Amino acid sequence: MNIPFESPCIKCGTTNAWNLQLNQDEIQWTCRNCGHLNHETFQDNITTGLKILRRALRELGDHKDTSIGIVLSAMALECEASRLYRRHLITTGKNLSDDEFEDGLRKLGNVRQKIDEICRTMDTSGLDGFAAKCPDISQYIRDELPWLFGTAIAEALQKRVFRPRNSILHAANVRFDEKQAWEVYELAQFGLAVLQRMELAKYGSIG
Ligand SMILES: [Zn+2]
Repeated sequence: MNIPFESPCIKCGTTNAWNLQLNQDEIQWTCRNCGHLNHETFQDNITTGLKILRRALRELGDHKDTSIGIVLSAMALECEASRLYRRHLITTGKNLSDDEFEDGLRKLGNVRQKIDEICRTMDTSGLDGFAAKCPDISQYIRDELPWLFGTAIAEALQKRVFRPRNSILHAANVRFDEKQAWEVYELAQFGLAVLQRMELAKYGSIG
């Protein structure tokens, strides 16, 4: 999967667009203006989930492809949650095979239960308890997502991110307009940001 980035050439300053692959954390690219070979490296905090979210942004912003924008937004969030579950298992000494890992994830339940359980591995007060403890997250909810006030965050993610994704993938529903797709993207982005904040609080690093 191509992940679109752009950055200035360190020699001539020209902004170049280039693609990163999901598993890459460094890349060399040749400036289209001066031919200089640039070398970019990424810190761990550009996780796979964030990379997928960048692709969602490209599909929504440039290509106006609402269906794939929604699918990728949900995928980004799911990917981040799964990574955090794996990190929890590794930290607690459980080095599982891929099959065992899949089984473990499945046993957590539906997507809402899964997100809640994974969040509780990082903060015993859970996703909503953690969000309530962070003044900037509470403020963001008040300003940008007022309808979320009083609703469990994982429930909102299930209904407003994963349900649209499922209706596209399970029923070929392609009737989402741009406004609806951006709402899904922004909520997935919010969910992913809160997960990363929880990770940072628990482990002191992201990735
Ligand atoms: Zn250049």
